[in-house]
This record gives sequence, C-alpha cells and structure tokens, in this order.
Amino acid sequence: MISASHFPLVDKYNRKVTYLRISVTDRCDFRCIYCMGENMTFLPRAQLLTLEELEWVGQAFVEMGVTKIRVTGGEPLVRKNVLQLFQGLGKLNGLKELVMTTNGSLLEKMAKPLQEAGVKRVNISLDSLRPDRFAKISRGGDLNKVLRGIEAALTAGFQRIKLNAVIIQHRNHDEVINLVQFAIDQGVDISFIEEMPLGNLENRDRNEVFYSSDQIRQELKTVFTLIPSMETTGGPARYYHLAQTQTRVGFISPHSHNFCDHCNRVRLTPDGHLLLCLGQESAIDLKRVIRSHPGEIAPLKQAIIKAMELKPQSHEFLVNNSSPILRYMNFTGG
Ligand code: SAM
Ligand code: SF4
Repeated sequence: MISASHFPLVDKYNRKVTYLRISVTDRCDFRCIYCMGENMTFLPRAQLLTLEELEWVGQAFVEMGVTKIRVTGGEPLVRKNVLQLFQGLGKLNGLKELVMTTNGSLLEKMAKPLQEAGVKRVNISLDSLRPDRFAKISRGGDLNKVLRGIEAALTAGFQRIKLNAVIIQHRNHDEVINLVQFAIDQGVDISFIEEMPLGNLENRDRNEVFYSSDQIRQELKTVFTLIPSMETTGGPARYYHLAQTQTRVGFISPHSHNFCDHCNRVRLTPDGHLLLCLGQESAIDLKRVIRSHPGEIAPLKQAIIKAMELKPQSHEFLVNNSSPILRYMNFTGG
C-alpha cells in the first residue's frame, strides 16, 4: 500500500519523478518536417485512452507526488473536447503546474478557456516569422493563425508564455536573431531546440541539418547580452536572461548526456503506454491495467511504482539517420 509520508516515485538511480507529460493525441493539423513523415498513419481512435482515463492517470500520479503535468501531443488542441481534460486536471489537489505545449493554430479561441481551466503556462512552437517558410517547415501551417494564437495567449493572462523553435541549417538558421527580437517585443521567453533523431524521416539526413545550441548562442551573443541563469527544470534546457529585457532564452540540447542525472519526468503516450525515457524504448502498458481494474486506482498506482524500476540511466541519441528510436515525436509528445 502507498503511505502518504513516503514518496513512491523514485527510480533505481534515486531520481524522484515529479513531472508527467501527457500526449493526448498523435494527430496534428501540421506535418512539421522534423516531427512527422508526409504520409502518417495515426492510431485508430479506439486505441486512445479516453479523456476520463487520461485524467485518471493524472490523478494517480498527483496523489503519488507529481506536481507538474504538461499536456502535449501531436497537437493537443485538435483532440475533441480536450478542454474537459484540462478542467479535470486543473482541479487536482497537489498539482502545482498545469502547462501545455501547442503549435498555436487553435489558440485564438482556446487560450482564455484554457487559462480559466487552470493552465498556468503555455509553450507555443514558432520556427519562422516568414509565412512561406513557416508553411514549408510545417507542411501547410498558416503563420498568421499562429500569430493570432500568440496574441490571444498574451491577452488571456497566462503566468508565462514561451516560444519553441527547432533550428535547422539552411531552413531557418538565419532567423535566430529575429525570433529572439520577436520574443523581446512580445515580452515572452524563447527556447531553441536541437533536432532529435526520432522516427525515420524520408529524404532527410540529420547530420547535414544539425545546428547546435552552441552555434545559436554564439550568434546571439553578437547582438544580445546573455546572462546565465541557475534555473533548471530537470531537463535538457539551459537558460539565460537577456539583459535589459523580460525575456529568457533557453537552449534545449538533447545531444548532451549531462541532464539525465537529474531527469525527473516520464511520459504517457496517447494509447496509454508509460515511457520512462524519451530516448529509450522502456515502457509499460497502463491502458491494460486501467481496463482490467475499472474504477480502481490502487492497481494503477502499483503499476506506476513498479515502472520506476525500468527508468534507464540515460538516453542513447545518435545524430544520424538510422534512428534507434522508431517513434515519431508526435507520439511521444516532445
Ligand atoms: N504540436 C505541439 C507543438 O508543436 O508545439 C506539441 C507537440 S510537439 C511534438 C512538441 C515540441 O517538440 C515542439 O516544440 C516541436 O517543435 C518539438 N519537436 C518535434 N519533433 C522534434 C524533433 N525531432 N526534435 C526536436 N524537437 C522536436
Ligand atoms: Fe504537429 Fe507539433 Fe509535430 Fe509540428 S511539432 S507536426 S505541430 S505535433
């Protein structure tokens, strides 16, 4: 049995798991070139956890000490009635941070209801400020819709908004300064993400396109003053304050192993698998547990505690095209 005084979510390397990321769907209205193939097969709807089951998993984790949940996808806002899930999670006692990652395309209408449901912060992906490029990278996305989504998020009153940009050589690497200036003008933060080798993407050689955080940082230093920040989220991000602004710049470098020692997170896939590491295949099937014990939270909690033993010490990313991980990012939820 689980005692309240004991924190049960500790893995065999003594790392506490306090952060759950939930991918609510693998579907999306974009097909970003680094995230998906052009022709994707998505999970049949019947294989997804229901919104009630997703909330049930969230509740189990929060009752065992998780304080932060990020809802992501695929594009979380394309999941039908997803607001209901946010409203349920937003009411969980003990959950300090309910946050979301979105491509922003549906935020114009959804920003305020999400904020009212208890979402504290949102990350919005923005890889380019040029409509033609934006459409190419996202294979059809409409930049103006996303910009309107960002505006709605600013008005809705979230505690913080962060832009996420995946930088790829010859696609958008010449926009890093403009993207930072845009973030400063909006009073929001921005993170640059190194492309991770997930899924086998046709016609792409990731060695050629890889653009490192170090390269971006050097370029930004020619224009901005970057002051290192001690802040950490237990993940692969390193943050800097930009002098004389409200804006912080993060660099997410999954190719460095350093952050694994402090990893505090696990991920739930849309079909109910709990992934213990983004860069490894270790997982357990929570949907099976939920459906064989309807309405009982104890077996679910025991399965989650047992899964902690499977959390690997570190990821094994390689910067090459023969990705060892065949899952696409839209499935694992970034
Ligand atoms: N659809 C939402 C969005 O785009 O923000 C949420 C899901 S998306 C998978 C989460 C984040 O993962 C996005 O910021 C996206 O840019 C990033 N991402 C997707 N594929 C990636 C890859 N192969 N390497 C690094 N980041 C990736
Ligand atoms: Fe969709 Fe986000 Fe993947 Fe782009 S990165 S295809 S917006 S899930």
